[in-house]
Amino acid sequence: MTWRATVLTLYPAMFPGPLGLSLAGRAREEGRWALDTVQIRDFATDKHRTVDDTPAGGGAGMVLRADVVAAALDSVADTRPVLAMTPRGAPLTQGRVRALAGGEGVTILCGRFEGFDERLFEGRAIEQVSIGDYILSGGEMGALVLLDACIRLLPGVMGAASSGEDESFETGLLEYPHYTRPQIWEGRTIPEVLRSGDHAKIAAWRKSMAEEQTRLRRPDLWERHEGARVQSPSGARRQTKDE
Ligand code: SAH
Repeated sequence: MTWRATVLTLYPAMFPGPLGLSLAGRAREEGRWALDTVQIRDFATDKHRTVDDTPAGGGAGMVLRADVVAAALDSVADTRPVLAMTPRGAPLTQGRVRALAGGEGVTILCGRFEGFDERLFEGRAIEQVSIGDYILSGGEMGALVLLDACIRLLPGVMGAASSGEDESFETGLLEYPHYTRPQIWEGRTIPEVLRSGDHAKIAAWRKSMAEEQTRLRRPDLWERHEGARVQSPSGARRQTKDE
């Protein structure tokens, strides 16, 4: 079954954009995923095709109308999850991406201006998603990010070379560093252990590097990883040093 993405936007011309090239582009040609866009403006009801209005209570900018966006959304209503791009959403994680990639696809709502009328989220089942703590000018780039992350996980897209399971975040850790030829570059050599041919030693080195880099670069991830480790698989707490 083809994984299907529907993007609701005021700028359908932004799609597939970069997803028409490389891995995602090839996968789309092979029918592994499909994309369609819905022009939100097509659901405006006045002769000026208005999609936004001034914020209630005053202030700068414009707000996307709940009635117009809901009509656009209702036009694609099916069983796929509906995600809205908003900096107020839950930060996107690899875990959520993997779950979405394992489903039948997504419908993505892209905001513009100051965002959506809040009542939209009360009136429809919509998951609010953020791609990070910074502000974009519109949800389209966020939609591209989300789709790219999902598409590479679809069956057959990355090929046998990588299942993606070793990568940053999949294990709760950042990935270990990579090296390739030349053996010596500007006087720097590849770590000796990687040339040893000793697979167990290499695996141990990679694990310790992943742990060290996570601890140093992302103490937040490290803390969560360590927290999860304290719980044994049975759910019982493991003995720690100070117990
Ligand atoms: N006034 C809003 C920002 C609106 S930015 C606020 O301060 O929260 C305009 C649109 O860009 C949003 O509706 C959303 O669709 C998109 N957008 C901006 N930043 C985003 C982010 N970090 N993640 C996901 N979407 C984002």
